[in-house]
Amino acid sequence: MRTVTILGSTGSIGQATLDLISRREGDFAVEALTGAGNIPLLAAQAIRHRARLAVTAREDLHADLKAALAGTGIETAAGPAAVAEAAARPVDWTMAAIVGAAGLVPSLAVLRRGGTLALANKETLVAGGPLVMAEAARTGACLLPVDSEHSGLFQALRGERAEEVERLILTASGGAFRDWPLHRLREATPEQASTHPNWAMGQRITIDSASMFNKALEIIEAHVLFGLPADRIEVVIHPESLVHALVGFRDGALIAHLGAPDMRHAIGFALNHPLREALPVERLDLVRAGRLTFREPDPARYPALRLARLAMEQGGLMPAVFNAAKEAALDAFLARAIRFTQMAEIVERTLDRLSGDGRMPRLCRAGEMPGLDDILEADRLGRKEAAALAGRMTREEA
Ligand code: NAD
Ligand code: MG
Repeated sequence: MRTVTILGSTGSIGQATLDLISRREGDFAVEALTGAGNIPLLAAQAIRHRARLAVTAREDLHADLKAALAGTGIETAAGPAAVAEAAARPVDWTMAAIVGAAGLVPSLAVLRRGGTLALANKETLVAGGPLVMAEAARTGACLLPVDSEHSGLFQALRGERAEEVERLILTASGGAFRDWPLHRLREATPEQASTHPNWAMGQRITIDSASMFNKALEIIEAHVLFGLPADRIEVVIHPESLVHALVGFRDGALIAHLGAPDMRHAIGFALNHPLREALPVERLDLVRAGRLTFREPDPARYPALRLARLAMEQGGLMPAVFNAAKEAALDAFLARAIRFTQMAEIVERTLDRLSGDGRMPRLCRAGEMPGLDDILEADRLGRKEAAALAGRMTREEA
């Protein structure tokens, strides 16, 4: 029996993880589940999976959670610190499926105890890259990528030597607006951006797919995980979403990872690592799929890719600023305060303003390893700057 904790259990990845676990009755014991606003679902999950602890990140909802679990014997807690404490409890396997940079501190708590961390929360690596990898190396923690592209790369790289790897290729569906005329993008609504051609995911990552900020984050994620420089990490549009990623070797060979667009593959791979067990995912019928097509991402349609590379060049804590600005811009777009296309403008202007800015905690010197406090301060400044820019844009538009 392996003990597991799921951070962000009420989300899309969290629910898919519990789905896999519930199919293996007797193999896993759930220690802790964490969520945020959806208390009825968190409570139902805790009861159904006999969790020992249920935590909501929202302090104001602790009373609701306690009420929902009264008489069950399931422990409850609330607030960001309680989420991190749940992550610090020793278990055999932890899924990090919180959305946003809020996942960083809990992820670090798992790595600090030398645990096995299945990492869906890409923001952990974007905001905290060098620190996260150093902590994992220091404690001998096992870090397993769950983002489908990075799981695919990880699988294609098994048994290969670093010096043999020439390049990494991430595929992108192109998102909701792949085929929209460019001039219409500025009118796109949150509802329109919240549909994905191939994957069913949480709302924020779905909108990030439409803007390509998701792939932008994934370039940084791949750089942190696999150590290749940005110019050897490529992105191609692949509308069918059947090839998830490819590794190019120095002899010219490409090894690709293919499969149905179902996150239970990558989650299950991490859950069963280092073994492969049967998973309830659709078997790909290549003849029915018929054609796999690829095209270059249009830089005018997808400025986010350029901005990720800019943040990587700026180095230091600028990837953390990049992510924070993106999160704040997305909040403003969801609140209908700014246009879809203004998200990239905000991120670009935030990077401009904060790179080399005196307020930043000496964070722009590339090659220096930032500590957690520096990262959190960069995240705070990035959000603040981006929110101020969004406010100004809203007023100008009015
Ligand atoms: P989601 O929005 O469906 O779920 C997010 C989870 O995080 C929920 O349980 C929510 O309660 C919790 N949460 C939200 N804000 C929080 C906070 N401030 N503190 C603590 N917990 C909080 O998101 P998702 O689509 O499941 O994505 C989760 C992570 O996995 C993201 O980082 C995303 O980029 C990554 N990811 C998701 C997919 C996918 O298919 N959904 C694929 C690849 C990577
Ligand atoms: Mg992905």
